[in-house]
Amino acid sequence: MSATTLVTAIGELVTCDETLGDGSKLGLMRDAALVVGEDGEIAWVGSAGEAPDADERVDVGGRAVVPGFVDSHTHLVFAGERSAEFAARMAGEPYTGGGIMTTVAATRAASDEELRASAEARVAEMHALGTTTLEIKSGYGLDVETEVRILRIARAFTRDTTFLGAHAVPPEYADDRAAYIDLVCGPMLDACFKYVRWVDVFCDEGAFSADETRAVLRAGAQAAKLLRLHGNQLGYGPGAQIAAEFAVSSLDHCTYLTDDDITALRDAGVVATLLPGAEFSTRSPYPDARRLLDAGVTVALATDCNPGSSYVTSMPLMIALAVRETHMSPAEALYAATTGAALSLERTDIGCLGIGSRADFAVLDAPSHVHLAYRPGSNLVAQTWIGGERVCG
Ligand SMILES: [Zn+2]
Repeated sequence: MSATTLVTAIGELVTCDETLGDGSKLGLMRDAALVVGEDGEIAWVGSAGEAPDADERVDVGGRAVVPGFVDSHTHLVFAGERSAEFAARMAGEPYTGGGIMTTVAATRAASDEELRASAEARVAEMHALGTTTLEIKSGYGLDVETEVRILRIARAFTRDTTFLGAHAVPPEYADDRAAYIDLVCGPMLDACFKYVRWVDVFCDEGAFSADETRAVLRAGAQAAKLLRLHGNQLGYGPGAQIAAEFAVSSLDHCTYLTDDDITALRDAGVVATLLPGAEFSTRSPYPDARRLLDAGVTVALATDCNPGSSYVTSMPLMIALAVRETHMSPAEALYAATTGAALSLERTDIGCLGIGSRADFAVLDAPSHVHLAYRPGSNLVAQTWIGGERVCG
């Protein structure tokens, strides 16, 4: 039988449960404590002075505790790096997405062991930065064998794995896109089926068209997979309307949206996932979270960790960028990085610290969650706990 743990002397506890604490969306409590139950769940939260006994006791000395970050969009399994492309872009060349093939070539050539070890190192970085759940996509194989390898490796790190065979058209199909779409929707999806919870498509300028996107989403729906979509990153386009049409769980990027797009997302209950690491790393205009939030759309934040357009593992940096560049308040950004991102993954067991939630949380070396945006560049995460186990700090 596992022990119960009392975490006490929490200066500020962010529960993201409106029924707790101050009744705000963050459900803030001061001078609080929480108890991790035997199954790694939150068994109790409340005032430190009223906390029940537990087998073990951890005093966090007045620090803030927030739900663990949910990084709901990563391309974590890949080989190689593209710093030369980054340097060229910073010297004035635009981002076109064409560099994906550089990573595809490196990933196809890498062994399983190399792919696993590099992914493991990035997951360790994420844990140290307070991330407790992540999603991982394929899309750097673009052939049946490598897509399966990527997803089998990804599966070891998360149950939220995503088939993104429709990330780009590989060179061997450049003259026959229709044949590639048939491969993605048929044999490739069949081979990846047992390793994934999600199916995704990159619907954008220079990526996949509206019709191609619909074909992939239809195949995903037929396979009874949950759907998400990359769209409206590089320009205005059909992504948001298709996201609404298929009622996908999340439209990711959302940089270029019309008012009609925003209304369609809200009415269809699609979460808008913002990935400000991509705009940061490509020196591109940021999305405007204010328009989405004011319209009543649920917003999520994620890193888009990938070697081309956002080689970033830090959710605290995403929070800082979201506040500074996309016009979110610190509270809205934290909510988006936890509960919002969990909702984009159709998960209610994580991303908050209400009773019964998984005990995934970060202890910050700061008195308040606001410091996450206020002190960018410092890792304020003193401890990371997953399922009631302390994994860092
Ligand atoms: Zn992405």
